[in-house]
Amino acid sequence: MWLLSVSPRADIMVKPFVPQLVYIEPRALEYPLGVKLQNKFKDMGVEIRETTSHNQVRNLPGDNDFQKYRTAKSTLVVGVRKTLKFDTSKPSAEYAIPFATGCMGHCHYCYLQTTMGSKPYIRTYVNTDEIFEAAEQYMQERAPEETRFEASCTSDIVGIDHLTHTLKHAIEYFGRSKHGQLRFVTKFAHVDHLLDADHQGRTRFRFSINDDYVIKYFEPGTSRLKDRIEAAVKVAEAGYPLGFIVAPIYLHEGWQSGYPEMLEHLEAALPAHAKKNLTFELIQHRFTKPAKRVIQKNYPMTKLELDENKRKYKWGRYGIGKYVYQNEEQEEIKDVIGSTIYKMFPQARIEYFT
Ligand code: SF4
Repeated sequence: MWLLSVSPRADIMVKPFVPQLVYIEPRALEYPLGVKLQNKFKDMGVEIRETTSHNQVRNLPGDNDFQKYRTAKSTLVVGVRKTLKFDTSKPSAEYAIPFATGCMGHCHYCYLQTTMGSKPYIRTYVNTDEIFEAAEQYMQERAPEETRFEASCTSDIVGIDHLTHTLKHAIEYFGRSKHGQLRFVTKFAHVDHLLDADHQGRTRFRFSINDDYVIKYFEPGTSRLKDRIEAAVKVAEAGYPLGFIVAPIYLHEGWQSGYPEMLEHLEAALPAHAKKNLTFELIQHRFTKPAKRVIQKNYPMTKLELDENKRKYKWGRYGIGKYVYQNEEQEEIKDVIGSTIYKMFPQARIEYFT
């Protein structure tokens, strides 16, 4: 009975996201999705305000930065994506495809806290056809090679897709494409509307998973492990290629048993056919100095260990280095988690450890 072995809060089902406040750019109402979302939120009784630009939402309610940050995390901005130049997205894909920015989750370690700076609100873009056209250009440039697009570089797109269905359209768009593949990762279990999408095997549906300790202490506002695994089973039954990102791998007391237990739960739940074409991506916990400052401001009570002296410094882009685990610890991670994966999922592929 693995339910008994998990944290006391593990049975709390996180409900699908409903924004407390919605901002709409006037230009977004020139697109059918913009109008649809406006009507939807009106019907739901959510307060709607206008904003001239999705980049400049000001006057969010709240008496101080701490409250404003929390308000922002439950605010949805409906806008038009102006930049249609895609960023690269190594190592998991060639390009990042921008359907949304921001996330309602409260993971203490989340890199969005630093990349989104003063704009932690969630943005969804309604000019999806223009985004698909841009993707088409990128695919043509590389054809006949396949081009992979990562849809979750700047958000947890599944977390808002029950409202927008943008991801569902993208899955079907890439299902019809000749050379395109879609990938995304989520910590949310609200996947039911995606199960009947005509994916044609061109979308790899990944779940971000972690052991009970990390989910309990550092991932508030996201679906619990058992719910993510249940959702993964549904996704496998729907015939999607499936993957798991174990991230961030965090060395807390008992991690050597926590991660193998997490993999045992997964192994017990997944149907045999899903285990044949599984991928794993392994990402160790890391932080930068600016990230540490933001984390300690937004989550002052966090137990997250952010001691530079215990870590190895790794030079990074733009002169901002990151703190990763020491070499011996990295070897131990590969040994403990990698060998468990190979033992339990002999047909799976570990795509990278970073
Ligand atoms: Fe960040 Fe992902 Fe957590 Fe959202 S679910 S806060 S994107 S780590």
